[in-house]
Amino acid sequence: MEGEKEGEPIISEEPLLNLDSIPFANYDSLKPSVLGIQTGSIFTSFSCPFRCKFCANYNFTGAHGRRMSPKRVVEEITHQNKGWGSTFFNYGDSTILPNEASFHKMVEINNLLDKMGLELDFFLSCHLDIIARLDRENPQLLDHALRKANIFFVGVENVNNKILFSYNKHLSSDNAKRGIDALLKRGKMCRNILLFTLLTILISIFCIKWFSKNIRYILS
Ligand code: SF4
Repeated sequence: MEGEKEGEPIISEEPLLNLDSIPFANYDSLKPSVLGIQTGSIFTSFSCPFRCKFCANYNFTGAHGRRMSPKRVVEEITHQNKGWGSTFFNYGDSTILPNEASFHKMVEINNLLDKMGLELDFFLSCHLDIIARLDRENPQLLDHALRKANIFFVGVENVNNKILFSYNKHLSSDNAKRGIDALLKRGKMCRNILLFTLLTILISIFCIKWFSKNIRYILS
């Protein structure tokens, strides 16, 4: 973890590079259940390769590119399934699917789970730009990677391209729509956030067009 206060580092430690070395979490005293379904939680990667200006993720999690191996992910999922009966898993990663390589890893995880005969459901977070691209260029990869996940958390934050660009979001409003359409046509459910910073609120006061565009997006 790293940070700065008046130019002085607060904490500076070497990032943990080998995520496979993290011990399994113990859920003995925490048995979350949603609507009677036992839920599990797993963190399979640290940091996010994007650098959105409003987000503190990369300042907290430091070096990126750290991911658990598919084998280790499946071991932990199996551990939680056998220990606490978890069948619905929340991937706590900020962005578990930021690039094409991560989709191939998801396919590996799904194949390993099939071999173990585990029928599970996942909640994933993903970046819509890569979803939109794969839907165009490699829809089979998208189908295989997403087949066990039914609920998605996606960050659009705004539907105005100038604001998305100012956020350094690496996403256009067209690709956000394409990405959401790609998920919806596969029968997935999407949960989304819009971000209202001081800048966007000030713009909305002066720009009814911007405001109505975002409201239409929320309603749709
Ligand atoms: S993609 Fe998400 S997690 Fe990554 S920097 Fe942007 S807001 Fe933060």
